Amino acid sequence: MSEALWTGKDFAAALGGQVTGKLPRAITGISIDSRTIDKGEAYFAIKGDRHDGHAFVRSALDNGAGVAVIAQSKQDEVGTTSPLLVVPDVLDGLMALGKASRDRSKAWVIAVTGSVGKTGTKEMLRLMLSADADTHASVASFNNHWGVPLTLARMPQSTHYGIFEIGMNHSGEITPLTKMVRPHIAIVTTVEPVHVEHFPSIEAIADAKAEIFSGLEPGGAAIINADNPYADRLVTAAKAVQAEVRTFGQAANADARLLTVASLPAHSIVTASILGQEIAYRLGAPGRHLVMNSLAALMAAKLAGADLHSAASKLMEFQPSAGRGLRHELVTPTGPAVLLDESYNANPASMRAAISLLGLSPAAGRRIAVLGDMLELGDQADELHRQLAPALAEARIDLLFAAGPAMRALYEQVPATRRGGWAESSSELQPLVLDEVKGGDAVMIKGSNGSRMSPIVSALIRRF
Ligand code: ATP
Ligand code: MG
Repeated sequence: MSEALWTGKDFAAALGGQVTGKLPRAITGISIDSRTIDKGEAYFAIKGDRHDGHAFVRSALDNGAGVAVIAQSKQDEVGTTSPLLVVPDVLDGLMALGKASRDRSKAWVIAVTGSVGKTGTKEMLRLMLSADADTHASVASFNNHWGVPLTLARMPQSTHYGIFEIGMNHSGEITPLTKMVRPHIAIVTTVEPVHVEHFPSIEAIADAKAEIFSGLEPGGAAIINADNPYADRLVTAAKAVQAEVRTFGQAANADARLLTVASLPAHSIVTASILGQEIAYRLGAPGRHLVMNSLAALMAAKLAGADLHSAASKLMEFQPSAGRGLRHELVTPTGPAVLLDESYNANPASMRAAISLLGLSPAAGRRIAVLGDMLELGDQADELHRQLAPALAEARIDLLFAAGPAMRALYEQVPATRRGGWAESSSELQPLVLDEVKGGDAVMIKGSNGSRMSPIVSALIRRF
């Protein structure tokens, strides 16, 4: 890397604190993981769910870190190693650096939240905008109290487009993050019953998403899903902070409006009108839900000044990532089969999307859904599982394999001829699935992360 991300001087000025040893002149990057650190990066000893980063300060420095940022209270634990920057609180330090990064930046800043589709929308924006100018975007789903400041702190000064995923599990979490990011454009992909056990109502979920508008720069734009039942609530919240409201969807009055879509097994062909400009494009991954996300992304790209036609033409390269619809070809003794890996996570909205995706798959044999419990749904869990039955019927799913107590409610709802098997856990379900898959089948596997459905994906890939 030629250019420093931070000069040692600016870095120290942003963080304050006490320097032990000699700070490097240039800091090449920001890391919170001592194992993957690159030479010259600053290591922040963040306390995560499982580990306290202070345990790895020495190894970070051994692995080439230019400096480690540690907490005053942990100085004794860290011992004599250098260079160190000692601050009252490491996360506060990272946030201070994030704020300094935002302050020095001239980038167009786009923030994305929503119950589902944040990462996909962010990745579409990255694809489109990086073809136009220097673009910096969140890694994976780095969208929380440490992921957002980390992404900001890593943004080079020369960035032209900055794209930030912002997530939440509870109300009040987005406000401080959006105030740090200060987006010019804020997207709410959709409002759905996700993490409902932490909310009294879906209206409360909508309000928590709407917090993203509170950080908008003056005159900034709010991009809202016109087809969502909570659209009006979001529009009101956006107007309350004087945002310019832009909507997307199939609604006739949407600013980014779907005109036609051909949903094919491996991609979609779309025509749309974006602020009156008609475009046609191919989206490289299948599913109508992704088409809707692409409208939001195109609207943001247009508002940020990118050329709409060039941007849209990049969407052909969009690919689903592991666990989010990635497609595998299996070679079984009786012929090829298709596996859709949706095992990364699940909630009612993404479950419906995945079921309809399986419905799009041309299957010479059967369409098989292998589903694990959707978690964090509180008292409504059984009901929200049962309500998936019509989606299974509509997508012409031939066989349901189900794992977990809540999925049992859905399993009992489907006709007996469509029941492949139920088990308490995914590990008990796995052998039943492995025995069933044959040539010609299309198999989709999905469940919440905690339901551990990904081992079934790996087992199928290993066997075939
Ligand atoms: P996380 O909160 O875990 O970071 P996310 O909001 O970033 O999730 P993605 O990773 O983009 O969401 O997508 C998660 C799943 O939801 C994928 O399987 C995807 O197919 C599905 N999905 C994406 N967008 C939508 C949508 N608009 N409606 C329904 N399902 C969607
Ligand atoms: Mg994500």
